[in-house]
This record gives sequence, structure tokens and C-alpha cells, in this order.
Amino acid sequence: MLPVLYIVIPCYNEEEVLPVTAPQFLAKLQQLSSEEKISPESRIMFVDDGSKDRTWNIISSLSAEDPHFSGIRQSRNRGHQNALLAGLMEAKDLCDITISIDADGQDDLDAMDEMVDAYHDGCQIVYGVRNKRKSDTFFKRTSAQAFYKLLSWFGVESIYNHADYRLVSAEALNAFSQFEEVNLFLRGMFPLVGFKSTCVYYERRERIAGKSHYPFSKMLNLAINGITSLSVKPLRVITVSGSIVAFISFIFVIWSVLEGFLGLSVPGWASMTAIICFLSGVQLISVGILGEYIGKIYLEVKHRPRFIISERTYDMNK
Ligand code: UDP
Ligand code: MG
Repeated sequence: MLPVLYIVIPCYNEEEVLPVTAPQFLAKLQQLSSEEKISPESRIMFVDDGSKDRTWNIISSLSAEDPHFSGIRQSRNRGHQNALLAGLMEAKDLCDITISIDADGQDDLDAMDEMVDAYHDGCQIVYGVRNKRKSDTFFKRTSAQAFYKLLSWFGVESIYNHADYRLVSAEALNAFSQFEEVNLFLRGMFPLVGFKSTCVYYERRERIAGKSHYPFSKMLNLAINGITSLSVKPLRVITVSGSIVAFISFIFVIWSVLEGFLGLSVPGWASMTAIICFLSGVQLISVGILGEYIGKIYLEVKHRPRFIISERTYDMNK
């Protein structure tokens, strides 16, 4: 039996983009199905992340026109990761494989052929990896690359240059649904699920229309979230640097006492100020990092729902 594929696409304020990219997704689905790689029952599932523009109207009319389109709507905007999770959790009971991709046409659809082939070869998770980032601005490219480096330095097992373009089988998603954390960093969490996996390489293009929803502040947020959700190494860095600073201070104390005894001491205002400023800086940063983790614990303990679906273009009970 051919596997049923669901292409899961989070959309936030994408009214300019969807009319262009939706037919491209459909064409890809039909090509895969005509090549008998996937079942004709396969679907495209849009997840409207509480858009403020006409995105949901577009999704509704697309699914009214063609049964290959379907959509769910989040009760409010909760961010890309949560929207994607909502789509994946919804799709896992309806299909055999999911492919998640952004709505904006930046990721090469042709990589899906290889992803599906890899699934037929027994892979449960296939990561789409950008091999060039020519279309991104210099700033986005270097900051993203620094981020991946930092992640691996902190011991987070993430796939270099992989965003959220990924094939995941329903079997792997069922295992993944046991990961109940509220702080989501999906691309760092999937490697923890295990199963046989591989990478597929493609070139990332420019956004077709509209503008990026990931300004620097959101990117920074995702980066901090990625590190503090998946690694406790920063806490260890605090301990180690604290010990080093304490050791240096100890030597300094001996030195100053000796100087005092030998009668060499001068008022020493500058050195005192420098030490106090340095130490309070180190302490504040450390308290800040501790605070990040306590904040995470606070959010996890509340265990609020990670997504709430308010509408569907289809009847769930059918
Ligand atoms: N997105 C979302 N909720 C948000 C922000 C973005 O569902 O709050 C979606 C957006 O519609 C797109 C994907 O996430 O399909 C990636 O966003 P974008 O293309 O703006 O990010 P970039 O490619 O610039 O990193
Ligand atoms: Mg994009």
C-alpha cells in the first residue's frame, strides 16, 4: 500500500504568498502521487497561526475547491514552532508520513522526491539541509551560522543548517508525542527521538512575497530557547568561571595582604573599582542565566496547552 503523505505548512499572515505557493504544493503532491510514491489520498494541511489578514479565508476557499487542501486554525498566534506542532499532531493520526515546510516557497519542493525515496528506503526522519545560503542577507547567514556553532558547543545535538523542512513518519511522531515540553525547539528535539534518519540537501531561495516573520528579536529568542531547553551546559559554565574567578581573587587577597605588610600599599582606588565592577558583572550574568532556567521550569510546571485548534476545514469524526 502506498503511504499517505501530509504536507504540513504553518502560515502566519501569508495572504500574499499562499495564492502563489499553494498551487506549487499541489503540483508537487500530484507529481509524487502520479509517480506512485505516495497514495492519492495524500493532502496538504495548512495551519493558520492566528493570522490577522485573509490567510484563513484563503485556506478555507482552497479546501472548498480542492479536496487535496485542508486546514486547521489556531485560536490565536502562538508562534511558528507551536503552529507546526499543532499540524504534526493533527496529521499523525491521518497519515503515514508528514513533511513540514514553510509557506513562503523558500525551500526547494523538489527535495521532497528524495525525502520520500529515503522513507521508502526505511528512514523515519529525513532532514532537509540547506547547502548554500546565498539568498539570505549577510547578517542572517552569519548570525544563523554562529547560532548552529553555539548550539553544538553547548552540546545540543542539532543538524547543521537544518530548519524545519523535514519528513517525519507517523510512527516517529507517535514516539515524539511523548515529549511533553512546552518550550519547543523542534529541530533540536527530533534527533532525540531516534529512529533511522538521513539528510537531503537543497538550495534555499528568496521569499516569494511578503516579509520574514523572524526579525532579530525573534531569532534571538529562538536561539536562547534552543540552548536553554536542550542543554544545561551554561549552568556548568557559570560554576567553572565562578571557580576560576574565586581562585584568582584568592591569589589577589594574598598579594594585597603581603603588600599591606610590606608597607607598599597605596590607596588603590582604580584596582578596587575594577574588581568590583568585574565581579558584579559576572554575578549579574550568572543570575540572568539561572533566571532563564528558572523561567523555563516555571513554564514547564504550568503545563499549559501548547496549541489550541479552534477551526478545521473538515469534519474530524469522518
Ligand atoms: N510562522 C508562523 N507563526 C509565526 C511566525 C511565522 O506560523 O508566528 C510561519 C510563517 O508563515 C512561515 C514560517 O513560519 O511559513 C517561517 O516564517 P518566515 O518565513 O517568516 O521565517 P524565515 O524563513 O525568515 O526564517
Ligand atoms: Mg521564510
